[in-house]
Amino acid sequence: MSDRTIEDGAIVGITYTLTDVDNGKVLDRNAGGEPFAFLSGQGQVLKGLEAGLNGMAVGTEFDLTLEPADAYGERTGPGPQAVKRREFRKDVHMREGMRFKHNNSKGEEVILWVTKIAGSRIYVDTEHPLTGKTLRFTGKVELVRDATEEELAHGHAHGVHGHANH
Ligand SMILES: [Zn+2]
Repeated sequence: MSDRTIEDGAIVGITYTLTDVDNGKVLDRNAGGEPFAFLSGQGQVLKGLEAGLNGMAVGTEFDLTLEPADAYGERTGPGPQAVKRREFRKDVHMREGMRFKHNNSKGEEVILWVTKIAGSRIYVDTEHPLTGKTLRFTGKVELVRDATEEELAHGHAHGVHGHANH
């Protein structure tokens, strides 16, 4: 423990639970495990999470609610569209939640998310599955430390301890 507080350029480690505010569903959590580490001030985490954590000291418990604009953004697209499985390349194994690159009818490469698989129909969306959602992060600031020179050069955190394996 220290009096260190979160500022841009620090390595921050958090344990958290991420909840969908609309239905209370837990979307992700690492509580009890290794803290998730990131280099702050680089836009590596959701805007509202980064802003909410800024200035917090090690040991602080947080409860942050992020409106869509501070998370994955407001929905602008039409939402999930059903596509027949045979429309996609055979060598791509489709799973719900996966993301893949696809060439659309204009020949442009687009990122598609698989939102649901129902028999021969695959529902795909051009927007991240959490677009338009209000998200709640509850958790604890486990770590604030200086970034190593290597982390600053790479522009990302090398885990809780700053050791890279790349
Ligand atoms: Zn690196």
